[in-house]
Amino acid sequence: MTQVHQLYQLQETDLEIRDKKQRLGEVLQTLKGPPWLIKAKADLDTAVTTLNTLQNQRNTLNLELQTLRSKAKSSETRLYSGKVVNTKEMADLQHEIESLNQRASGIEDQVLELMLLMEEAEAEKNEATTTAAAAETRWQKESVELEAEKTELAIRLNRLLQRRQEQASVVDAASLKEYEQLAKKKGGTAVTRLRVDMCLGCRMTVSANNIKEAREGKKTYCGSCGRILYPYD
Ligand SMILES: [Zn+2]
Repeated sequence: MTQVHQLYQLQETDLEIRDKKQRLGEVLQTLKGPPWLIKAKADLDTAVTTLNTLQNQRNTLNLELQTLRSKAKSSETRLYSGKVVNTKEMADLQHEIESLNQRASGIEDQVLELMLLMEEAEAEKNEATTTAAAAETRWQKESVELEAEKTELAIRLNRLLQRRQEQASVVDAASLKEYEQLAKKKGGTAVTRLRVDMCLGCRMTVSANNIKEAREGKKTYCGSCGRILYPYD
């Protein structure tokens, strides 16, 4: 096997390592939770919080209403007990009862408004619950596939890195360094195939002499992009 062959095979391994690492990164990112799942959960949280807030507001108002009603009731009891004979006190009690009832009816209106808002919030919460449940089911199915893919990728990467080490060990140090520097500059492809007389790295024509030398097994470079020529099928 010529050195160009060795480098070409090393490059195939490197390119696959790059692809698998990239895919593994994507898989790990997605496993943190896809945007649609995060959104569905956040929407449900918001809907639940909104409904809870309204419920708390209603409870507070109901307590206030109870207090007012019970105050009004005890004033009424006192007014009609027969114990109050003073006209001024009677008038004061009547006035107080009216004022308490007025405040109570104002609060009742607020409670009614809240009930309408709560109905809407309840409907939104139900919808958000359905959406979140569907997203969760979908995610459970997809994440199982992703977990399996993650495992496969890890195993494959492990083998590739091992192979890379073996392949690199048969190339001399200077060539390996040259290959690595060239690969870094040329987007990962230091060694390039030819299509008839065209360099597939840069799509320029390679001189007949260069092709001839490359076919003779010499390390030859594309005159345009500087990549090492791999003139085999
Ligand atoms: Zn080229």
